[in-house]
Amino acid sequence: MDKNTLCSMFPELAFAKEADAFLSACPDMAVPEQLRARKINRIELKSLLSSGGLRINPGKDSFSVQLNDLGKTNEWAETLGHEIGHTFHFDISVRPLLDLCAGCRKDKDKIGKFEMIENFCNEFSRRWSEINVKEKVAERIKNTLSLVFQTWSATTS
Ligand SMILES: [Zn+2]
Repeated sequence: MDKNTLCSMFPELAFAKEADAFLSACPDMAVPEQLRARKINRIELKSLLSSGGLRINPGKDSFSVQLNDLGKTNEWAETLGHEIGHTFHFDISVRPLLDLCAGCRKDKDKIGKFEMIENFCNEFSRRWSEINVKEKVAERIKNTLSLVFQTWSATTS
């Protein structure tokens, strides 16, 4: 196995394989297309205590990423990458989207797995940002917060 894969870094996380496949496809996909592939159809700037978060939309078949409105554009890109990472512990082929690590954060027997997932998301973000170039992603977020996703709703409705 390639030593440089998420799979090899996180052998305990079955979904790392899907993330590796996604990252290999990223160079041929524009950022909005990448987000669509992960069912993210909204990015919101909000007053948050954290740098960001992933939310399931009311229809339960797509995600929103929330970013801290006080963040710097580079931080937005990093956080967006991290939150895309979180989509991999969901089964996004079913509706409602199914969190395969539901409750990990609160369950003390699963807290180790939760921390591993956080590390996975950070590493995913590092790789994702490298592929997409942080500045470009940041510009994309600034310019097309809503525009990008109008296209998405138009194609899915
Ligand atoms: Zn996280």
